[in-house]
Amino acid sequence: MKFIDSHTHIYLSDFASDIGSVIDRAEDDGVKKYFFPAIDSSHHEEMLALEKKYQAKCFAMMGLHPCSVKENYKEELKIVEDWLSRRTFVAIGEIGLDFYWDTTYTKQQFEAFELQMQWALDKNLPIVIHTRNAIQEAIELVLPYSKKGLTGIFHCYGDDLITANKIIDMNFYLGIGGVVTYKNTGLNEVLKQIPLSSIVLETDAPYLTPVPYRGKRNEPAYIKIIAEQIARIKDVSIVEVARVTTSNAEKIFKC
Ligand SMILES: [Zn+2]
Repeated sequence: MKFIDSHTHIYLSDFASDIGSVIDRAEDDGVKKYFFPAIDSSHHEEMLALEKKYQAKCFAMMGLHPCSVKENYKEELKIVEDWLSRRTFVAIGEIGLDFYWDTTYTKQQFEAFELQMQWALDKNLPIVIHTRNAIQEAIELVLPYSKKGLTGIFHCYGDDLITANKIIDMNFYLGIGGVVTYKNTGLNEVLKQIPLSSIVLETDAPYLTPVPYRGKRNEPAYIKIIAEQIARIKDVSIVEVARVTTSNAEKIFKC
């Protein structure tokens, strides 16, 4: 079995002291590739260093996270743009809208999201979307770009079936992570109706740790727990979950 962690922040300092054993444990459980969503310029250096250390296993994205859209967002976007002109990345991400923590920069979040979607179209790259308390707004914003051929992942999907189908109809994928192991989220019922062909696996490590490790640091080895849960919900084998979700991620990221 071969798994892909399509969304993981193992370059953060939470993993600095034991990254080697974190990767070894994931390898033992079949995780072969790791995709790093960017956050902002304060983390680029560590992200790119880890990508370099584990070439052909780790792949970096570039983008400005909506929670990092602050007073200096224009400078941050310029840094993203510079990186995109300097080398190739597998995707633009994570980008999107987050109205949960702070709505001071709502207008700027919309602007940054649209600009980065345009860059993705120009460079023929997929996008990885973060939304919180803003999924309908995000879908509305993505729709015209999807009609021009933009595709990607709605990371950490946790909404209802109608919303999931809107995303699938735009040719986008749902990133499913540890939340699928939490009780009473409604996600299990949604997943029963969603084809595996629209799902990719992710940990979002170090966040959103699956049960039974909830509350502790998340890590890519737990992809297997997420896959087991999806297999149970959809009444298919874990081998099938691995095969289809890995093929989906390879298709999206083209590697
Ligand atoms: Zn993330």
